[in-house]
Amino acid sequence: MSQHYIPENLPEKIQHYINGEFVDSISGATFEVLDPVSNTAYTTAAAGQKEDIDAAVAAAREAFVNGPWPRMKARERARVLNRIADAVEAQEDRLAELETFDTGLPIKQARGQAQRAAENFRFFADLIVAQFDDAMKVPGSQLNYVNRKPIGVAGLITPWNTPFMLESWKLGPALATGNCVVLKPAEFTPLSASLWATIFKEAGLPDGVFNLVNGLGEEAGDALVKHPDVPLISFTGETTTGQTIFRNAAEHLKGLSMELGGKSPAVIFEDADLDAAIDSTLFGVFSLNGERCTAGSRILVHRSVYHEFCERYAARAKNIVVGDPHDPATEVGALVHPEHYAKVMSYVEIGKTEGRLLAGGGRPENLPEGQQNGSYVSPTVFADVAPTARIFQEEIFGPVVAITPFDSDEEALELANGVKYGLAAYLWTQDLTRAHNFAQNVEAGMVWLNSHNVRDLRTPFGGVKASGLGHEGGYRSIDFYTDQQAVHITLGAVHTPRFGATATEPAPAKTAQFGASK
Ligand code: NAD
Repeated sequence: MSQHYIPENLPEKIQHYINGEFVDSISGATFEVLDPVSNTAYTTAAAGQKEDIDAAVAAAREAFVNGPWPRMKARERARVLNRIADAVEAQEDRLAELETFDTGLPIKQARGQAQRAAENFRFFADLIVAQFDDAMKVPGSQLNYVNRKPIGVAGLITPWNTPFMLESWKLGPALATGNCVVLKPAEFTPLSASLWATIFKEAGLPDGVFNLVNGLGEEAGDALVKHPDVPLISFTGETTTGQTIFRNAAEHLKGLSMELGGKSPAVIFEDADLDAAIDSTLFGVFSLNGERCTAGSRILVHRSVYHEFCERYAARAKNIVVGDPHDPATEVGALVHPEHYAKVMSYVEIGKTEGRLLAGGGRPENLPEGQQNGSYVSPTVFADVAPTARIFQEEIFGPVVAITPFDSDEEALELANGVKYGLAAYLWTQDLTRAHNFAQNVEAGMVWLNSHNVRDLRTPFGGVKASGLGHEGGYRSIDFYTDQQAVHITLGAVHTPRFGATATEPAPAKTAQFGASK
């Protein structure tokens, strides 16, 4: 395929969606949206400012305080969520086409995103219907129960890698639990988020429950984080942005969920199934163009298999098909944006001074006709990378991997833990004792043993150290988006110390107790 593929019916402009209406920014401000293959603007998006966020939050707040959504029975909300899931699934082809066009993600990997997004809605629809809360009894004396309530307006701020699917992670549980939301998608990739508005409307979500404001992080995102009527912020993005949001949310003591960056190790022990480990560690860093938070971007290999691993790994990396994201044969497409491309390429150059280049190292040759300006980077492999190297320590978020040898389990653990991040770890060994001990001690929110990154929606998702704060996934998401109010009821006599009562004043009559014998 050599033509630059452009999907039909692209929007002439991308607007906000506030209180059930598509609207421009109040100021009329817009920003340009590029596609990563031609790196030219294909449309403009409304650039939300503080006043647009104010309007969206006001709509969400009104829907929360006076609208039906937070008060509906769980089963009724679940019906709407299931209709949303059906509609998302029905958009599979269109979504894949738009996501590939806007992000540069290979079409084969963009397919399936709609199904995963739909599954997030079905999963939380099931969970809220099955949800029950604790009651704690003190016989004859007190009953305590948990009254779980939605919190209010949730601010959802999302990144540009698999944007639609990541938005569904937050939208599913936030809406299922009865909150109203303002979504601020990433400015590099606003195209697919606009699908939500129509999907939600047709599924019967009341106006004002879902609001979408496009715009830059420092403007629209910042205003959302600082808004006093937004008690919750769920954020996925870079660690440094997370730190800024943390500071800005402090004034109103907001509830925060932070899914941040990673530099995850894949550890190949001497007894690993090398064939499986090579397949998985190639996919783990080069799928989604390497723009994957859980990418295994540091591979630690036992010295006894190091040489063989490096040779076989590099040979396969050189064979990876880089090219037009819309071509089903493509394995690595174009990076999302020229700014990000420049960042990744700068690490490729740094890597050449820090490691031994085994594959890639720049732009691929023989780019498809008409795509010479695309943000393409060859899958790049560096070996013999020291733990002090920047390419070992810093998140690159592109198709670049660092390989480092180790001699003992202790050294492997020290290397694995020797970075500021702690999102995921991948372990390859046949030795169960070693695997479980290593999993216990590795500083990672998620560990995969002899497995690549597959995830059951019930499991906790999140990182430790600089990779995040709090976990989402399954019941943890329900907990994040709800307040668990404790209600205490006295069943028997009220034993209150009687301040100010004189000794002669009669005590209040004891309350009758059911079952108490006379
Ligand atoms: P980013 O931090 O640049 O932007 C993320 C979002 O935050 C965007 O919508 C942006 O507009 C907004 N934003 C930026 N500055 C802001 C501010 N001052 N106030 C409020 N909002 C602001 O991240 P990115 O480049 O879009 O995404 C890539 C990063 O996301 C990588 O670090 C990756 O590891 C991380 N990520 C993490 C996970 C996870 O689950 N841990 C998943 C996907 C991506």
